[in-house]
Amino acid sequence: MGKSYLDAKGRIFNIQRYSIHDGPGIRTIVFLKGCSLRCRWCCNPESQNIESQEMTDVDGRLTVVGQEISVREVMREVEKDRSYYYRSGGGLTLSGGEALMQPEFAPYLLQASREAGINTAIETTGFASFDIIKRYLPHTDYVLMDIKHMNDMKHKQFTSQSNRLIIENARKIAEWGANLTIRVPVIPTFNDTEAEISAIAQFAASLPNVTRLHLLPYHRLGEGKYERLGRNYTLSGIEPMSKEKEQTLLQAAEKSGLFCQLGG
Ligand code: SF4
Repeated sequence: MGKSYLDAKGRIFNIQRYSIHDGPGIRTIVFLKGCSLRCRWCCNPESQNIESQEMTDVDGRLTVVGQEISVREVMREVEKDRSYYYRSGGGLTLSGGEALMQPEFAPYLLQASREAGINTAIETTGFASFDIIKRYLPHTDYVLMDIKHMNDMKHKQFTSQSNRLIIENARKIAEWGANLTIRVPVIPTFNDTEAEISAIAQFAASLPNVTRLHLLPYHRLGEGKYERLGRNYTLSGIEPMSKEKEQTLLQAAEKSGLFCQLGG
């Protein structure tokens, strides 16, 4: 029997069911390995290396993060919650890491999900050539894309990469006609001023068909993972924002005319 695209293999590090923050409805999130950025606040640092790697678990045991898996095997998991998707408008979300890092696997996952009648979303930072992105878009119902900062120097300083390609791709994805939501991880000392949030919101509002912006307040849930990977957490000591500050930034974003919310 010939090989099917369902046999394509990729590398993931988690499948999480019953998520309600990563696109509409109740969703299954597939976390893919690999990311070109190194955001200082990243709460999934075990995602960044595309290779499998060792990490100490919370009980101090050495574990391997990263598993080779086929589209068919992932879909077996995703299909388990079909009735929840049906009732809530949910489906499959690809997250990471950065799903754009596995173009020989992730687009097939999206395609398989669609063919099974399950809607699809990707959480992405848009850091890839647009030719790669175009392989994903026809199979994606919702694109949730991060814009972290409009200032290139500051973007580089906190994520290790320039924002130029990301900003260019946000426009191309919007012009392509994708159902695009812009998301902003709001990080104290990085982009937590009204001016910085306004600049991102104004940019998002300038994109064709973009109507929604989500502000994702900083949290420290991933901090412990850095030590367990033998890495340093460079935002150590930075506190999450107060509720008042979150509201102030939300109001600054709303001046763009977009529908804005706190959280995904
Ligand atoms: S883009 Fe996302 S996965 Fe990649 S380093 Fe930044 S926060 Fe982590």
